[in-house]
Amino acid sequence: MSSERFYGPDFALLSQQDPDIAAVLLSELKRQQSNLQLIASENFTSRAVLAALGSTLSNKYAEGYPGKRYYGGCEEVDKAEVIAIDRAKSLFGAEHANVQPHSGASANVAVYQAFTKPGDTVLAMSLPHGGHLTHGSPVNFSGKWFNVESYGVRQDNELIDYDELRDIAIRTKPKMICSGATAYPSLIDFEKVRAICDEVGAIMWVDAAHFIGLVAGKAIPSPVPYADVVSFTTHKVLRGPRGGMILAKGEHAAAIDKAVFPGMQGGPIMSAVAGKAIALAECATPAYQKYAKDVIVNAKALAAALEAEGMRAVSGGTETHLALMDIRAIGVTGKVADERCGLAGIVMNKNSIPYDPEKPGITSGIRVGTPATTTQGMGVAEMKTIASFIARAIKTDDASTLAAIKNEVHALTARFPIYTA
Ligand SMILES: *Cc1c(COP(=O)(O)O)cnc(C)c1O
Repeated sequence: MSSERFYGPDFALLSQQDPDIAAVLLSELKRQQSNLQLIASENFTSRAVLAALGSTLSNKYAEGYPGKRYYGGCEEVDKAEVIAIDRAKSLFGAEHANVQPHSGASANVAVYQAFTKPGDTVLAMSLPHGGHLTHGSPVNFSGKWFNVESYGVRQDNELIDYDELRDIAIRTKPKMICSGATAYPSLIDFEKVRAICDEVGAIMWVDAAHFIGLVAGKAIPSPVPYADVVSFTTHKVLRGPRGGMILAKGEHAAAIDKAVFPGMQGGPIMSAVAGKAIALAECATPAYQKYAKDVIVNAKALAAALEAEGMRAVSGGTETHLALMDIRAIGVTGKVADERCGLAGIVMNKNSIPYDPEKPGITSGIRVGTPATTTQGMGVAEMKTIASFIARAIKTDDASTLAAIKNEVHALTARFPIYTA
């Protein structure tokens, strides 16, 4: 496959004008094509989405909202944003959608701003148990500007402890309760969270960044009917452009829109807004719904196959697109496993497990996800092969063995080509 051909005629221009950056584009494309992409938050977006991202919409300033802009000449980009909003509302059955946040973290800044004031108490999932930086990390605005209390998972079953969540909520009276995480393989009981929010008078915020694509594909239950506000990224399982989005009940529409602009951002990235519209339409197709189900089937198969290799799936397995594996029985840390897999052409990440005895920079676990490999068309048979690659890689420090695995990885990915011309 020719990578130059993939980028089209403009690539020749780029190569002439800026060979340094042209080389990066080519080698990154080759890296994505030839290695195994198991990072749970990554995916391969469609060529239609890439076309929107590389379009002249990038040139347009459009501060404000459709029909209420601060700049002239917005009549065309207005259409793209209206289409994106309508598609988001219809796909998720939401009363309100804001498609402008630049990223998942930006969307979360807007959520805090819409519902809380600095110093307010917010209750969110603890970081070592799978929460995100924006859920109260001391190095993040959330932990610096808010009093963030946290809940976690039970030590025995590694599932969210809703009794503990309720007790903490009653004791700390949070303005807002956040559910959603970056490394939680199980489903969240939104009905239970809603009941706790109602009992203590808290706003129910779901940070669905990781799993919203599975919701879009109707493969898992939706938080939208329960939550006051749902924030998410558009580039993970959802398979759209890098960016964020917020859905909310109609009564919160004005607060959310004001928090995004002028509260937090200037002009929206209209090329990304157009890409979001395209991705949302893709998500409404039967092909994407099958994809979302396959992602979960593959994640279950990968977790089971890794268990057969002597690792332990946190919370007993997965109900989503990712598995968190406790690898202590193998006798290597997450950091070492991550490095060895990298040398074998397998890209994933080390990850703390609940109650991890190791430091966050070392960890006892790895996190693997199936959004990207499933987009490539891989299935259960390939997941078993991948599990054996991972197991062989993390059990050896021999460079030639790792290089041999890398050759097998390249042979596998060559059978599932992406972004061919
Ligand atoms: C990925 C993620 C985010 C942040 O998204 P960015 O686009 O990287 O800013 C926020 N919350 C959760 C739960 C996430 O998984």
